[in-house]
Amino acid sequence: MLDKRKFYINGEWVDPITPNDLTVLNPATEQAIAVISMGSAADIDRAVAAAKTAFATYGRMPIDERIALLEALLAIYTRRYDEMAQTITLELGAPITMSTDQQAHVGIGHLEGFIDALKRMKMRETLPNGDIVLREPIGVCGLITPWNWPINQIALKVVPALATGSTCILKPSEFTPLNALLYAEMIHEAGFPAGTFNLVNGDGVHVGAALSKHIDVDMMSFTGSTRAGTAVSKDAADTVKRVTLELGGKSPNIVFEDADLEERITGSVLECFNNSGQSCDAPTRLLVQRSVYDRAVEIARRVGATVKVGDPQEPGDHIGPLVSDIQYGRVQALIEAGIAEGAELLVGGPGKPEGFEAGYYVKPTIFVGVNNGMRIAREEVFGPVLAILPFDAEEDAISIANDTNYGLAAYVQSGDLDRAERVATRLRAGMVHINGAPHRYGSPFGGYKQSGNGREGGLFGLEDFLEVKTIHRPDAA
Ligand code: NDP
Repeated sequence: MLDKRKFYINGEWVDPITPNDLTVLNPATEQAIAVISMGSAADIDRAVAAAKTAFATYGRMPIDERIALLEALLAIYTRRYDEMAQTITLELGAPITMSTDQQAHVGIGHLEGFIDALKRMKMRETLPNGDIVLREPIGVCGLITPWNWPINQIALKVVPALATGSTCILKPSEFTPLNALLYAEMIHEAGFPAGTFNLVNGDGVHVGAALSKHIDVDMMSFTGSTRAGTAVSKDAADTVKRVTLELGGKSPNIVFEDADLEERITGSVLECFNNSGQSCDAPTRLLVQRSVYDRAVEIARRVGATVKVGDPQEPGDHIGPLVSDIQYGRVQALIEAGIAEGAELLVGGPGKPEGFEAGYYVKPTIFVGVNNGMRIAREEVFGPVLAILPFDAEEDAISIANDTNYGLAAYVQSGDLDRAERVATRLRAGMVHINGAPHRYGSPFGGYKQSGNGREGGLFGLEDFLEVKTIHRPDAA
């Protein structure tokens, strides 16, 4: 079993102030894989003090030098890429092919996207009125990340903080702490000055809240549930720090009758089940035009039945377990709620798939006969569970799609790209994918409504970590 009980503070691996061990489990086997420490407010005080001291000099480091540090990190990450993929498979349960092709890959893509954006970013400009505008690093940043796309969220927060000249304290999810500790080793090797990046493990209620409330933390960047995001905002309010939130979603996927049905329904089902459904932007509400509804349901049944569940260590395109017993319980409860509210099971259902007694495996599940008032259409399930709903005309589709408290992503499938774009402009969501087009590195990621605020990635992601200063010179035109 790995001993990972140290925190990374002020450029060193240090013991927690008060020992408090937590065992990390492999979700595929429920066996212990590592022991980490759960920190306290005192560890956060120590990390924040280091970040504050470091900011005094790092905040003024020339951009070229910061770019060189990020490029060094990119080279190290690339060298240790397989280690990162294996770590994510071990602690999250993402199948190794998916970890290698997707989970670990985003660590490279986001880093390249931010380096490119930093090179293009105007840090000083003169307005038409002659005043000068400077963009300056915001200061000490508290970063709280979840377990579902662990290195994705770490890269989307740590990299822009360090790129802009801020310093940071990362609190990763205690369900997936090992990839974060590996990232800390890479940052150390890249030569970032002591105190610029710090890592403290712990739970949200103690360590997370201590960060959000801290007087010397200038900004909180949080990804996770809307419940925890609300808590971060409230905790941060007394010190008026900036808060950016990337929260949940219940993303609609509108399929018009003119779409290439075979291809787009297949793609839609597989995308919903990717990462065992544990993605904030998963297309979980499949809205299908009534004229092609029966055909679409038949395709979904066929595709859903072919999705295999399997051992994450085996290469292949199967899906793995959920991350934890808590997550397993949440997903089971929502599948039961779907049945109780009268939705009809097309594929899957409650319980574990046959032959998977150990591990937090669930059956890929598809419901039909769903209406938009049911819990499975309103709540984020965060498991491989798809709800299919019919609609009549374009206006109905838009109104069902927008009838949600969330607004992260939306999806449109149509043979007519002009129509798809017209509908996209009417959807209250931060990102709209047409006919399976992917999210590209460097583009802003984030949501409307209760899906959060702020945008991550590229130029917009850098902006979130910058202050704006106006200098009024007497010689302005
Ligand atoms: P949480 O939102 O509780 O956890 C995400 C992160 O927030 C973790 O690091 C967690 O720490 C921390 N956290 C929790 N409470 C607080 C708090 N009061 N102050 C500061 N930080 C806090 O998500 P869960 O893991 O409990 O998952 C619950 C649901 O959230 C999922 O079913 C899914 O619907 C949604 N979710 C959405 C994600 C997204 O990408 N938008 C990611 C993960 C979950 P700790 O684990 O110690 O509590």
